[in-house]
Amino acid sequence: MRMIDYFDRGLRIAHDKPCMIEGDTQKTYAQVAARVNAIAALLIADGFAPGAHAAVLSGNAMVAFEAVLGILRADGVWAMANNRASTSENAYLFDLLDIDTLFVHSEVADRIVEFRAQCPNIRRYIALDRAFDEADFFLEDRLDADAPPVPQRRTGAVEELGFLANTGGTTGRSKGVMLTNGNWQALVSSLVASMPMTMPPVNMVAAPMTHAAGPLALASMALGGTVVILPKFEPGPVIDAIERHRVTYMFLPPTAIYMLLSHPGVRDADFSSLQYISYAGAPMSLDRLRQAIAVFGPVMNASFGQTEASMCVTAMPPHEHLNAAGDLAHPGSCGRPNLLSIVEIMDDDGHILPPGERGEIVVRGPLVMAGYYKNPQATAEVSTHGWHHTGDIGVRDEDGWFYVVDRKKDMIISGGFNVYPAEVEKALLAHDAVQDCAVVGIPDEKWGEAVIAFVEARPGHKPQEATLIAFAREALGAVKTPKRIEIVRQLPRTNAGKVSRAELRKPYWEEAGRKI
Ligand code: ATP
Repeated sequence: MRMIDYFDRGLRIAHDKPCMIEGDTQKTYAQVAARVNAIAALLIADGFAPGAHAAVLSGNAMVAFEAVLGILRADGVWAMANNRASTSENAYLFDLLDIDTLFVHSEVADRIVEFRAQCPNIRRYIALDRAFDEADFFLEDRLDADAPPVPQRRTGAVEELGFLANTGGTTGRSKGVMLTNGNWQALVSSLVASMPMTMPPVNMVAAPMTHAAGPLALASMALGGTVVILPKFEPGPVIDAIERHRVTYMFLPPTAIYMLLSHPGVRDADFSSLQYISYAGAPMSLDRLRQAIAVFGPVMNASFGQTEASMCVTAMPPHEHLNAAGDLAHPGSCGRPNLLSIVEIMDDDGHILPPGERGEIVVRGPLVMAGYYKNPQATAEVSTHGWHHTGDIGVRDEDGWFYVVDRKKDMIISGGFNVYPAEVEKALLAHDAVQDCAVVGIPDEKWGEAVIAFVEARPGHKPQEATLIAFAREALGAVKTPKRIEIVRQLPRTNAGKVSRAELRKPYWEEAGRKI
């Protein structure tokens, strides 16, 4: 079964029901399917080969989803590309991923000049939303609404490449992650199994569709659900859309949830339609999690995910979050392995560790990628001892609940002690005046590495360095407490919206020449 076969399932069960909503525009499955077929017919007529790679460079938009489905309908491989990356990062990735066709939104039309110079493999540039000179043609001008149904051109075997995701770039240059039809089948199945919900779901896409939120939206189309598209994450419009469309499901990284919780609009909004808010991608502060449950209801759904494992590995459903006393039952846990993952904690020699011992989180099963595209060396590095190595340190308790400690690469060794930035960040986030923060180690003559923190203030608050240091010392003791805290207007974030420790660390380590 191919990814497009899942859309067809949605089409069969929800033919005249809303498939996508964007602003005041709403389209049914039948309307979307007709356009998707026309896009595929156009591609094929223009020489698009089965299995060719195509990307859509756009923010969240209905037409961008239609293009993605059109690529899949033409039996192409969807290569995820983020419009928030820089032009040169995009060009690097397009060249690496052998992109044959690029759909481009007018907002980023000017980048085409550089792509033409750097990406000789791109054979056609298609304007997505309006005609502009840089593109070869405007999609709308070439669509034939009466095109006959396009034939299936690939087998749909499990090992066939379905889409090319890319790593978020938090720890280095993005790599292409090969996800197959089999990975897609496992992804949809494990999501459905770990989140039984009232059908059809109403899924809001406010996080970038070029990361987890996009595939999650396609997965809800398999269930005949409605996808509500917001061009970008902004707390006010998100709250309005939840109320207006009775949203039942959304995926948001913790930083976005913090922004929602700080918005005055959450106080009297009606969140009664929500069934699941999935949060993953970074650790979540316990206080904010408690606050989120108080504000949104028992709908918080934890997960640990990684692009290389089809974005979902563990899950803690809402009802497992709270104990009988109404407090967090497994504070800080990202859940237990989902139905299609085997997860263990491993030491550096490949031994599986017992509960309570820290080691690397390793994964096996049908969600694990086929490898990094054209990078067998990097694939081999993460595939030792028969397991996929996530690069994250974690621990499992006696009952099988997993806890992410931190990324291996981000661990700080200060005065001979191991300090995990995530633990320090959690302590700082418990302070009322802290909206978000990042902790890194910088070279230090006395300590080897010194712990320092960067803090983004909560709207209306003015945190003081000395107060925060004293607050952190209470919770953490002297060794882990930051030696310095800088209050910044905005923390640097990756294209996927995660706080970028690497960027903060960079100026300090550039001279020392390591740990960037
Ligand atoms: P890159 O792989 O290029 O460095 P990235 O880490 O942002 O970028 P993703 O695949 O988007 O790439 O993110 C996966 C990572 O996010 C995990 O390896 C882990 O470090 C972190 N992560 C995911 N879920 C959680 C969670 N629940 N708690 C803590 N960290 C998490």
